[in-house]
Amino acid sequence: MTSLITEIISHVWSSKELLSPIFHLCDKIGPRPSGSRAADNAANFIRSKFDDSQLTTSIHEFSHGSWTAEKHFLAIDNQEFPSTPFNLSGNGQLSGECFYLPNPSKEAFEHAHFEGKILLAEAVHGMGMHRTEILKRAVEGGALAYIQISKIPGGIVETGNISTKGVANIPALCISYETGHFLRRKIQQGDGRVTLSVKGSEFEVKGKNVIGNIDSGSDDTIIIGAHYDTWENGPGAFDNGTGIATLLELSKTLSKLQQSGVNFQFIAFSAEELGFKGSMAYKKEVIESNKLQIPIMMNLDCTAYPKGQRTLSVSNSEEDFAIINQLINSYNFNSVLNTRPPFGTDGFPFYLSKIPVVSLEQIDRTKPSFMHTPFDTPEKLTENSLKNSTAIAGAILGTLVQKYQ
Ligand SMILES: [Zn+2]
Repeated sequence: MTSLITEIISHVWSSKELLSPIFHLCDKIGPRPSGSRAADNAANFIRSKFDDSQLTTSIHEFSHGSWTAEKHFLAIDNQEFPSTPFNLSGNGQLSGECFYLPNPSKEAFEHAHFEGKILLAEAVHGMGMHRTEILKRAVEGGALAYIQISKIPGGIVETGNISTKGVANIPALCISYETGHFLRRKIQQGDGRVTLSVKGSEFEVKGKNVIGNIDSGSDDTIIIGAHYDTWENGPGAFDNGTGIATLLELSKTLSKLQQSGVNFQFIAFSAEELGFKGSMAYKKEVIESNKLQIPIMMNLDCTAYPKGQRTLSVSNSEEDFAIINQLINSYNFNSVLNTRPPFGTDGFPFYLSKIPVVSLEQIDRTKPSFMHTPFDTPEKLTENSLKNSTAIAGAILGTLVQKYQ
């Protein structure tokens, strides 16, 4: 069995052009929000890669809600500044004084009084209080609007969901680090008046999950998933070109191996950024109607950031946790292992269905990752970190198939 793991690892390490799907997705296709023409191009590209590896492919199409800002505006002291409305921002046009909350936390909110004001706060992707939670508390505290300051210097404005339950009650925008600190200084001088407006609308689109199967005639199907959609403001090299590159490489590697006694289904999900809508649609269509027997799901989201901390999270199965723990130790894979549930990702619908989920990510939390910005670009990535993460993901699959041999 060790030989299967070694075989997978050497396949991955001898593979050339591991980064090339990321260059294609970012440079040839570009931002690919679910339902867009670019998303269709990405789906066709991924499907052709599955075809090249001799997988049986299909498209799982689903309808989902989307949102776009028709107009938005932000001015400080009558001077307009660039801003981005968050996805699902509330509509509104207003002027008001700002209240600055430096480090949004439960405790900070308890002592903050901003009723009738615009709440201004700093937040960063994946750390501290999530922006949807900040917005909820902003609304509860009677804020007129919410403005988030980007934590990355350099005029960068990020985007993301601001609400988990439809269009928010108040407008919510992001401004750059520099604009944010200008505004913060104005507030200190007693002059933090902002005029802003957001007008957005909701509409329905069709998302496409791309499916590739390796059938071994087994009753059990291991799922490997990664989302390919992005926000409309960025090419998504890291989030989630890396996950797609890992997914494609694993599908190529596993299709070359001997029959493993278990089926593999590779899924490139759409609409993850909008609240894992592609994997939720898959849950409804496949999991809830028991179309497949799924012993485990592997989720690949943000799999390779150079020098970042590699983390494996295994939930819903103590047995699989123990197997993966032993693998990491015996191969000296430099990874942190935990049992964190896959909140906010395509692993979550599987987790809700009591299916064991293993998630792999490599994130450098000491540096800005540029996720959800125009600067999430391929030159920040390295083939080495992508090979390492992909080899580890492959070794895990090679270990899990032992149960079927
Ligand atoms: Zn992602």
